Amino acid sequence: MLTVLDPATEEPLAELEQAGVEETDAAVARAKASFPAWRAVAPGDRGRLLRRLADLVEEHAEELARIESRNVGKPIAGARAEVSMVAQVFHFYAGAVDKHYGESIPVAGGVDVTFREPLGVVGLIVPWNFPLNIASWKIGPALATGNTIVLKPAELTPLSALRLAELALEAGIPEGVLNVLVGKGSVVGARLVEHPDVAKIGFTGSTEVGRTVMEGAAATIKRVTLELGGKSANVVFADADLERAAAAAPYAVFDNAGQDCCARSRILVERSAYDRFLELLVEATKRVRVGDPSDDATEMGPLISAEHRQTVASFLEGEPIFRGETPAGRGFWFPCTLVEASNEDRIAREEVFGPVAAVIPFADEADAIRIANDTPYGLSGSIWTRDGARALRVARGVEAGVLSVNSNSSVRVSTPFGGMKQSGFGRELGMHALDGYSEIKNVFLSTEGG
Ligand code: NAD
Repeated sequence: MLTVLDPATEEPLAELEQAGVEETDAAVARAKASFPAWRAVAPGDRGRLLRRLADLVEEHAEELARIESRNVGKPIAGARAEVSMVAQVFHFYAGAVDKHYGESIPVAGGVDVTFREPLGVVGLIVPWNFPLNIASWKIGPALATGNTIVLKPAELTPLSALRLAELALEAGIPEGVLNVLVGKGSVVGARLVEHPDVAKIGFTGSTEVGRTVMEGAAATIKRVTLELGGKSANVVFADADLERAAAAAPYAVFDNAGQDCCARSRILVERSAYDRFLELLVEATKRVRVGDPSDDATEMGPLISAEHRQTVASFLEGEPIFRGETPAGRGFWFPCTLVEASNEDRIAREEVFGPVAAVIPFADEADAIRIANDTPYGLSGSIWTRDGARALRVARGVEAGVLSVNSNSSVRVSTPFGGMKQSGFGRELGMHALDGYSEIKNVFLSTEGG
């Protein structure tokens, strides 16, 4: 049995049966059996079903947000925004179903056309930090392109995915099309990766597990998309609106208690503005409201588990420049922490995945780009400057898949999301995600003869 906890109180929320290899094989078999009928649903009707699912998510938004908030320990305001995004994702892909065109290509002697074919059964493996959101980024394009799904949520946070599967049935998505399995990564996840009837793994999680997934997928030449870890830079130039940059910086790393692959956990500051910025940053960090996730005003909750709190704590040596407050009593709390560092320090090199930011000075534009890129990761990042040409030069120079200028917000339903380097490959969201869940088939029709 799996006991699911509330990280803010350490109280159990649910006791669930865990699937093993046998149940995984049965779910893959169900998904395989439902594939022919699902891919044959007329595109407009598939769109209508996805639209109905989006409507049901909106109708149940508060319920889903409460489930997510309690299971992840995330502030209810943030959970509401995430559920709203889930609905938008399904609306987007409902509209995208019949706009993912093939081509006709000029050739001699006939007509050449391409088709976008679904892959078949896709295995979706997701982490615990944004459970429903990240699941929807994969479910939306996978269903839109006609695949059937076995989804494995993280062991710590399976509750919202289970509820979503019920809503999918209520929306009229046929039984067997979206299957959710609660179970261990090393059992259910690993079986999905090796299963010969699973055509693709859409994975979000750590770089370490991503590497295992990629290795395992090689045996059956499975398609994989990997959304992995990050160590993103928030680059602040001296000519930026320092007040705005400093006011925004804490939320770019302490949001979701730092358990965000896009966390701008390295704050790079031009040396000539360093002291002033640091002063503003400390002031802004003091204002982050840490506490009960069910309170509308809370901005940061606890970490996901006791074990994870230990890992986060292991990164800290010596006195930080700032350490915030946390509620007393039970719950996996960890304070907002700012540390001065060099890019060689462990805290600047590894993903902490907690509310800890490393503040690092730089000399000039070239130095900023060099430090930003001096990491095996390449997911996200921000650039703050009033010089538009510089913003573009740095944006082109930083090796990361999703960047924002004078903003820390780089994830949108309609725009591509994903990493470079060891942050993974493949793109989610927008029309780009559809390419990861379909394959191009080329057909030549001869127009010669009778
Ligand atoms: P994790 O890699 O430990 O687990 C992710 C998922 O993989 C879970 O469902 C887990 O059960 C499963 N898993 C574990 N071992 C497996 C195996 N051998 N085979 C198949 N599946 C297996 O990650 P986590 O701790 O749940 O999440 C945090 C990590 O996710 C961080 O590194 C974070 O940066 C990353 N992340 C990346 C993105 C992105 O889009 N790039 C988004 C969110 C989180």
